[in-house]
Amino acid sequence: MIDFTEAYNTVLNSSFKMKIEKINLEQAIGRVLAENVFSDINMPPFNKSAMDGYACRSEDLENRLTQIELIPAGQTPKKIITKNTCAKIMTGAPVPEGADTVFKVEDSKILDSGEIIYMNPKPNYKFFNSKKFEGINICKLGEDIKTDDKVLSKGTLLKVQHIAVLASVGCVLPEVYCRPKVGVVATGSELVEPDMKPEKSQIRNSNGLQMVAGLHSIGAEPTYYGIATDSPEATYKKLQKARDENDIILISGGVSVGDFDFVPAMIKKLDFEILFDKVAVQPGKPVTFARKSEKICFGMPGNPVSAFVKFQLLVKPLIFKVMGVENNELKLKLPLENDYQRKKAGRLKWIPAKITKNGTVAPVIYHGSAHINGLAQADVIMSIPIDVTFLNKGDLVDVRQI
Ligand code: AMP
Ligand code: MG
Repeated sequence: MIDFTEAYNTVLNSSFKMKIEKINLEQAIGRVLAENVFSDINMPPFNKSAMDGYACRSEDLENRLTQIELIPAGQTPKKIITKNTCAKIMTGAPVPEGADTVFKVEDSKILDSGEIIYMNPKPNYKFFNSKKFEGINICKLGEDIKTDDKVLSKGTLLKVQHIAVLASVGCVLPEVYCRPKVGVVATGSELVEPDMKPEKSQIRNSNGLQMVAGLHSIGAEPTYYGIATDSPEATYKKLQKARDENDIILISGGVSVGDFDFVPAMIKKLDFEILFDKVAVQPGKPVTFARKSEKICFGMPGNPVSAFVKFQLLVKPLIFKVMGVENNELKLKLPLENDYQRKKAGRLKWIPAKITKNGTVAPVIYHGSAHINGLAQADVIMSIPIDVTFLNKGDLVDVRQI
């Protein structure tokens, strides 16, 4: 049995890089950039009004102003603002030359003469006459991004907010890493698929679709191969097909020491080298990790919470690394809501927990590694370090969002 850090390093050191492809921006969510992206324009591309209002010279703010133009968004101003003139301007329109401020429509009044005055001056307008004044309600040309600035780095996992950045710089065919193909196999003669009613001594296969969903959620490309009954032949056949058609294989069950646990032997028969088969993590001590040149195989524990936790701790970091993700592990520490005690401390323990209104973390009711309904109540998993039996209320614990 090895400790978690050794297992984690072994897994990450076995990583390989995927090829690169260009894809449409509409399909880019959840993909990983394989190139640095630069801006082809200034943002904003011109001095832009942040308000619907009037553009004028700040030194004229106490005067009666004559409107010389109306500037809608999308239109270039035709006139220059001079002493005691203004242009009515809409949000997003270019500020005309000569103007250094925009006051809001809500702060304006049209006199009977047709002239406009600025109403309701606020204290911060007092510095209008000082030399430091740089304009109010104007977003300056290039203040967010300058032409040729790097806007996103290679290795960025593209989330919704990144898509807007790519769109704004016209990067409509970003270069991304290809998605790894992952074959999912469930083992167990007691399993029936979720659309079946289990007979006596059967249970539904929850791991198969749990793993497929987990893979979809991190941008991998899963294929589900169904259930292998607990025989060497059935296990071998499914694993062979999954190996031939994928970069990575995820297997649930059959990796422990039971009389019908054939997965490690069949993985070896398929020419994989087993790099470890037990990790000092609870839940789910037995985990078989194997490699064969550019192919990787994970034999996950059968109990669904164990399989879930091992997916979070080992499979996800590997797949992110294979996909070229840089710096995606957000590690949080939160204070415990209550004291925590356990009897055995020989393993690093992860338990399902909730974040409370106080910003603390509290374990949910959880009966053990088959208790998926307990896990479903959790927002996070929290860890209790190896050799620690007692933690005080308020102690900081490692927390991962799930
Ligand atoms: P195993 O790792 O094969 O010894 O299985 C450990 C426990 O997890 C047993 O109670 C199995 O019935 C259960 N189990 C195994 N595979 C699955 C699965 N795909 N879905 C739900 N439970 C499973
Ligand atoms: Mg089994």
